[in-house]
Amino acid sequence: MARTRPLNILLLGKNGQVGWELQRSLAPLGKVTALDRFGQDGLCGDISNMDGLRHTIDTVKPDVLVNAAAYTAVDKAEDEPELAIRLNTEASVVMSKAMKALGGCLVHYSTDYVFDGSGTHPWNETDEVGPLNLYGASKLAGEEAIQASGCQHLIFRTSWVYASRGNNFAKTMLRLAKERDTLNVINDQIGAPTGADLIADVTAHALRQWQQQPQTTGLYHLAANGETSWHHYASVVIQWAQKAGIPLAVETVNPIPSEDYPVPAERPKNSRLDCRALETTFGLQLPQWQEGVERMLQEITIKEAQ
Ligand code: NDP
Repeated sequence: MARTRPLNILLLGKNGQVGWELQRSLAPLGKVTALDRFGQDGLCGDISNMDGLRHTIDTVKPDVLVNAAAYTAVDKAEDEPELAIRLNTEASVVMSKAMKALGGCLVHYSTDYVFDGSGTHPWNETDEVGPLNLYGASKLAGEEAIQASGCQHLIFRTSWVYASRGNNFAKTMLRLAKERDTLNVINDQIGAPTGADLIADVTAHALRQWQQQPQTTGLYHLAANGETSWHHYASVVIQWAQKAGIPLAVETVNPIPSEDYPVPAERPKNSRLDCRALETTFGLQLPQWQEGVERMLQEITIKEAQ
């Protein structure tokens, strides 16, 4: 096997759920310049500042640009379309053109929200897209810009991301379960909760493979194995907390349809992602979603107890 040299990596969005885990997983691959929106050492990390972004990439001259920054407020995006499009679409245009000029690889993350949620089959990478909300449309346009640029790229579409750091659905359910005797949780949206740590580890693995086999670039679905509804996910979290002896007020977790929980941005009902292309290309076996969720629950309850 050919020797792989250390990579010069630029990571944007270093403090997001995925960005934080990438700081860890990318570290052994080479020199990592990691920026948040405030930048450092004269480098701009704000992806709404296109000139600043170009300057940063031209200065660092990365072999690999990993973009974990994004506009991720799905409901708010309906009221702030310009900002969402700037961050999720226009910044992708700038990054992909700059990486094409450098001959490096752009790693980017996208979403199950590019699909319209119809049917019950797991979506594969060539299925027709049809986003239901502004966020999904802005992410899809970002993917398309990267593909059209001709730069080497790895785009990972993922779903229902959580991390032990920051807020997430499981933490919200745990908090509500301590405060209320009844919870109403949506049961007609189906997907796979996916840990930011898994996404980061797969990214590092894929980059190592890309160094050896540059033809592995492309668009891949990356989610934990199996499927669940938000209602079942909440029930798993609550059962785990009960077994762990955490005092809860909740007695009933009611399943409700999406229609009974109106939000500004419509969500797809079928968020299942078929990840076989990723598993085959990179020789991976994605773990069941429950494994990562249980680990995250252990981490957050240990932190809370301290
Ligand atoms: P987070 O919201 O946790 O992180 C996004 C990061 O982007 C934050 O650190 C945020 O910084 C940063 N950011 C926002 N605006 C700017 C800006 N103008 N300049 C620089 N940085 C900025 O998202 P995730 O880690 O969960 O998401 C990672 C990727 O995965 C994204 O591309 C997202 O679209 C995709 N994805 C996420 C899903 C999810 O459920 N979360 C599901 C499917 C895909 P700050 O903290 O300062 O605001």
